[in-house]
Amino acid sequence: MEKREQLYEGKAKKVFKTDDDQLLIVSYKDDATAFNGLKKGTIVGKGVINNKMSNMLMQRLEKEGVPTHFVKELSDRDTLVKRVSIVPLEVIIRNISAGSFSKRYGVEEGIVFDQPTIEFSYKNDELGDPLINDYHAVALKLATWEEIETIKKYAFKVNEVLKAFWKECRVTIVDFKLEFGKLDNGTIVLADEISPDTCRLWDIDTNEKLDKDRFRRDMGGVEDAYAEVMKRLTEHI
Ligand code: UDP
Repeated sequence: MEKREQLYEGKAKKVFKTDDDQLLIVSYKDDATAFNGLKKGTIVGKGVINNKMSNMLMQRLEKEGVPTHFVKELSDRDTLVKRVSIVPLEVIIRNISAGSFSKRYGVEEGIVFDQPTIEFSYKNDELGDPLINDYHAVALKLATWEEIETIKKYAFKVNEVLKAFWKECRVTIVDFKLEFGKLDNGTIVLADEISPDTCRLWDIDTNEKLDKDRFRRDMGGVEDAYAEVMKRLTEHI
């Protein structure tokens, strides 16, 4: 399958058409942004790691009953995916307090919740992806109630699968962001990516950060952290 015209260039990926109007090629870049695009940089090798990691995790999730957009890994940076229309909601699951949760509620990072939490942001760069609830999402016709119920069910299932998997890799999954899309027939599938760009991953013993927070917070060792989680994942798949 070959790339045709570029459809879209995002912060971390490019998307191309193919000969088949139901299939697209996603191409992962090393570009990194944070704080709604205010901070920009490069994480050398990130595109390759995110592509491969996301594909491995999506294949695992498919086996566990979560439908995804994944079709085939084409190369180090390129993957064939099903064309979907993205539901404009960022779905965030948290197991442990961190990031914007800690900031919003004035609590330290690292509080382990009795149950995972879910929240939604409205995907809208101009508005800075504001927090939104399910009633507002339905009012704005971003999704139907039925779609939101399906998304919640899949998101918690993804959490169970990822928690167990990362534990085997001696990594704690603190929180993560998912995006879902709709196929032409209305089926909801997991889309976008699952990577250290979109998950908080901490070493299970030391709580050392092994994710994009190292870039966001200028902690150094960004490339090494991405390489380390990738190594642990490939040793366990
Ligand atoms: N996240 C993401 N994209 C976003 C916002 C958040 O992938 O635009 C991920 C982030 O990496 C973390 C989780 O979602 O794993 C929760 O992020 P949070 O709401 O704490 O926001 P942040 O502190 O990253 O601004």
